[in-house]
Amino acid sequence: MTFADLGLSDELLRAVEESGYTEPTPIQAQAIPPILMMRDLIGIAQTGTGKTASFVLPMIDIMSQGRARARMPRSLILEPTRELAAQVAENFEKYGKYHKLSMALLIGGVNMGEQIAALEKGVDVLIATPGRLMDLFQRGKILLSGCAMLVIDEADRMLDMGFIPDIEEICTKLPATRQTLLFSATMPAPIKKLADKFLSNPKQIQVARPASSNLLIEQKLVEVPTARQKRDVLRGLLRNDEVTTAIIFSNRKTTVRELTSSLQQNGFKASQIHGDMEQSERLKELDRFKSGEINILVASDVAARGLDIKGVTHVFNFDVPWHPDDYVHRIGRTGRAGAKGAAFTLVTPEDAEAVDAIEKLTGGKIPRVGPSGLVATETRTEEPRETSERPKRERRPRGGAKPAAEAAPVADEIVAATPVRDAPARPAPDQRSSPAPRPEPVVARAKSVDPEDDGGWNGPVPGFLSVGFDL
Ligand code: AMP
Repeated sequence: MTFADLGLSDELLRAVEESGYTEPTPIQAQAIPPILMMRDLIGIAQTGTGKTASFVLPMIDIMSQGRARARMPRSLILEPTRELAAQVAENFEKYGKYHKLSMALLIGGVNMGEQIAALEKGVDVLIATPGRLMDLFQRGKILLSGCAMLVIDEADRMLDMGFIPDIEEICTKLPATRQTLLFSATMPAPIKKLADKFLSNPKQIQVARPASSNLLIEQKLVEVPTARQKRDVLRGLLRNDEVTTAIIFSNRKTTVRELTSSLQQNGFKASQIHGDMEQSERLKELDRFKSGEINILVASDVAARGLDIKGVTHVFNFDVPWHPDDYVHRIGRTGRAGAKGAAFTLVTPEDAEAVDAIEKLTGGKIPRVGPSGLVATETRTEEPRETSERPKRERRPRGGAKPAAEAAPVADEIVAATPVRDAPARPAPDQRSSPAPRPEPVVARAKSVDPEDDGGWNGPVPGFLSVGFDL
């Protein structure tokens, strides 16, 4: 499928090509044709799926017919925040460069006089936050009776922010014959009600598995010859400057414990969260992570579902998850709320089957890189001296990680965790392969842990963080 198959104009195709996009994303492929056919549409998709272009592109072609009149915008896009409104405006500029369309932004924090002046001239596209729009409407500075197209973007966030009554009122000011598009990452009951009331026979499109289709998450498989070398490789990746805050997932709680203490001994500001911990302990660690006191959280899958911690720049899968669904949940801890993120999965040859299952589920090959190919790691390529799977001896702290104090504080919000079971134990991977990176000089021994504790099950966790749910 190409953009040309979607029925867009040549001018638009040129602008898209110049943006460097060659293939429409699933939401674009499904949404653009019905929008061009003037259908109402419900798009269940989150930021990162390319949803903005899925309405901006057809809107440009639709709006290119007809002329703007003073104080009567021809189309209206409602966004919950100024930042999102500004992003949509950027999209209009980028894709609309070969069209002569006028656009105005109506957002808080910007000089009202300039916004009114723009409206006085007449605009084809008005991008607004509900509060500012209502304000101007009440002052009689704007008429919405010429709006033939309405986009309600991020409807569930609008709901969280208390904008639904405003939106309902705005809808009643627009002509009943308009075309309405509603986008939302989730469909809670009040949004469904809103859609039932204000959309007419809408086509509904859902982009499956938001995390795996999130273009904002850069996914990589980091090939590591043997499981023993994973810690060394991980440390190299963590020393990358761009790693500000990271969640590292492991399949077993034993590994979570060992890895955390190993990272701490190597100077990383790391802590852990797993199913053996009391709820109060977990909350404490999450708070430390949110405040920036620590910038690395080692977690079992208990923490993977439902945790919504904003500002996580990296997810590392120290182990390939055994269930492909867990992969999607894990990587979805980054790339949230429109921010970019990276998800690196350490893979050994033994993981081939699990990787295959993940790629089948996510519907595409994840790029492979060598252990040192990503960043200037300190990984070396000589034979390892260690031969046992027992807890490794580690170098003393030397402050490799970016200090937590420098890290941007994460998370203003943690909503929910669905109690889940971590995957059952499976046999240790084959240790015979080589070559391998040489471990760093050995000067200290990691704290011993019970080798019998395979951490087979980390949950369910009664009542843990039962604040709400995140899809
Ligand atoms: P959005 O979900 O609209 O916030 O878009 C997420 C990111 O994907 C933005 O950086 C877009 O510029 C980018 N993007 C949009 N469409 C495509 C596409 N067809 N191919 C690749 N990237 C895209």
